[in-house]
Order: sequence, then structure tokens, then C-alpha cells
Amino acid sequence: MTRFDTQPQIQKLPVRATTDLTGNIYGKLKVLGFYGVVSRHYKWVCLCECGRYSCPYGFQLVAGKSKSCGCVAAEKSKRLWELGGDDAKRLREYRSINSKNASHRQSKSPLYRVWTDMRKRCLNEKSKWYNAYGGRGITISSGWDKFENFLRDMEKGYSKGLSLGRVDNNKCYSKENCRWETASQQQRNKTNTTFLDVGGRILSLQDAAEEYGLSAGCIRYRLSAGWSIDKALNTKSERA
Ligand SMILES: [Zn+2]
Repeated sequence: MTRFDTQPQIQKLPVRATTDLTGNIYGKLKVLGFYGVVSRHYKWVCLCECGRYSCPYGFQLVAGKSKSCGCVAAEKSKRLWELGGDDAKRLREYRSINSKNASHRQSKSPLYRVWTDMRKRCLNEKSKWYNAYGGRGITISSGWDKFENFLRDMEKGYSKGLSLGRVDNNKCYSKENCRWETASQQQRNKTNTTFLDVGGRILSLQDAAEEYGLSAGCIRYRLSAGWSIDKALNTKSERA
């Protein structure tokens, strides 16, 4: 059930409506007033003993099905978890079975990993690569929200060890702009990359150039010649 920290708006109960439940107490819930009609049923604004609000259906309150804002169930599962022992073990198993079932078949495919990594780079702000992808507007074509579609479009031509590259590094991940690349192809493709993974730190080409006392063009040239990032940054420029 949805919980609210602030009180949802109370509406005037229409004349000739259902029984007014205002003032009634159901478990930990006190009915403060009428909320509105949702799916042709009456909902009520309730204050829970825990201090939060919820808006359950009247028929569920009357039937004794809604007795708190949801905090009781949440507390219970948290307590079970903390308690350890058999109940916690069962709960843990239940959760792991449920989460496994969802991705079980596909998690075995190496392509599934490629797909989730791509999504992390573009969508998860916590990914170390986010700034180089999602953060600079690299998106994923909407069909690829579903792994099945990604698989359908990209399975052909994939073999282990290849990585997902984009033909144009400034364009999004889509069937049209993606291809499978070998490590060296990817390295070459980095000529128009603007970000580098420097031992786990993501630096823009400009920042890396400044930090290592090189020109951006020099780094770019070295990478295009197939140098590793490490060698490209740590070899002194002859002109310097
Ligand atoms: Zn509550």
C-alpha cells in the first residue's frame, strides 16, 4: 500500500454516498475523511499509529483487510530478517528463488551481461562509466529495454570475447549503430573517444592530457596506433 508522509487531501463526501467511515478505527488506522472514488470504490484518508498516512478502500477497512499503512508487514519482515533462524532463512530462500526465476535463463548467456553492462553505463548514475555515456547523452534505443529484443538484433555475429561497439561514438546504442568488435578494433575506435579509464578513474581526454603533460592530440594518436591507455599516458612526448 502506498504510504504518505503528509496528509493527503480530504474531499467532501458526496451526498447519498456510502456510509461515512470518518472517525472509525481499524487496527492502527484512524479514518480522517473521504479521499475519493477510485475504480468505482470509495477510498479513505487514514492516519496510521506510526505517523504516516494511507488511503485504503473502505471495503477493505470494513473487512479487516487494511489494518495499518503497511508498516506492520514491513516491520515484520525486517524483524524476521534480523532474528535470523529458520524464518529468516526461509525468507531469504524465497527472495532468492524469486529473483533467480526472473533472470535465470538469460543470466547464463554472456550476451545478457553485455546488455546489463550497457544499461548500467547509460542509465545508472552510480556507474563509474556514467559520465562517459548516459551523462553525455548516450541513450539506448527504446526497443532494447527488453533483453529479448537486444538478443534478436545482436545475437548474430557475436562470439565470446567480442565487445559491443558503436560505429559512431556520439550516437546511441541501437541496432543500426552497434556492431561486435574485437579488442583491437575497439582500441582503434577509441580515436574519437573523449573519456579514458585510467586505472579505474574515468578522465576526459583533456583532463588526462593535462594530468600527464601531453596534448590531447598526442594521446588520441597513440591510441589510434593501438597503444594501451597506460602506455599512451606514461610515455613521454618526444616534443616535450
Ligand atoms: Zn503505519
